[in-house]
Amino acid sequence: MSTPSQEDYLEAIWRITQQKGYVRVSDIAECLHISQASVSKMIRKLKEEGWLEVERYRGLALTSKGNAKGKLLLARHQILERFLSHLSVTDPQVVHHDVEGIEHHFSAETLEKLAALVTFIDREPKWWKKFIAQLPSIPKA
Ligand code: CA
Repeated sequence: MSTPSQEDYLEAIWRITQQKGYVRVSDIAECLHISQASVSKMIRKLKEEGWLEVERYRGLALTSKGNAKGKLLLARHQILERFLSHLSVTDPQVVHHDVEGIEHHFSAETLEKLAALVTFIDREPKWWKKFIAQLPSIPKA
């Protein structure tokens, strides 16, 4: 995996916060599959920019600005996962690879429209199933 971006950190920290209520450097390192040393470096930057703060005894916590951003980033990730699932992309490794690759490049407007499409497919599955049924089966590389 390439070096995680600031957005990857904020998304990961938000995910961990949702699960555990607090975040430690080791949690982030584990989540992003990187060393604790590289995490510490980015944490300094996130603190400087007002995304993250250190809470006594509890560890790291997102600021309100960080929480809002983290929530948004996770939602973006999940919309893309749902879209791939609708496309019948089921291999978890492929889903992870593709979503991690494209998520940073979606504008808010495009993402909003994609979210509307995903919701529409959920509500009106018939036409979409017809589309999926006629997809050629692509041999795996
Ligand atoms: Ca992500």
